Amino acid sequence: MYKCLFCGLENPSETAKFCSECGPNGPAKDWTFKNVDEQRKLEQYAAMLCELYFENQSVEELEKISLKMRERLMISHNAHADTGSPTSCPSMTNF
Ligand SMILES: [Zn+2]
Repeated sequence: MYKCLFCGLENPSETAKFCSECGPNGPAKDWTFKNVDEQRKLEQYAAMLCELYFENQSVEELEKISLKMRERLMISHNAHADTGSPTSCPSMTNF
């Protein structure tokens, strides 16, 4: 049992890293395992999310953009769950 790196869906396969929705034909098709969740990209992603929260984007818009960003920056579902909260944004608490 494992969780798809991209969407977090549980999958009975022992070897695969992604579910059939996300790879090899989905958004995670270009991902290489060692490049997932790089610190620099995690920070970039978190900063981007904060900006979106700050701009008061709708939930739909937020999800659309964050999916695109995760696809490009190779942010796993787990890391997204950790960073994806407005309370972790410094600019929000100062506002
Ligand atoms: Zn998936």
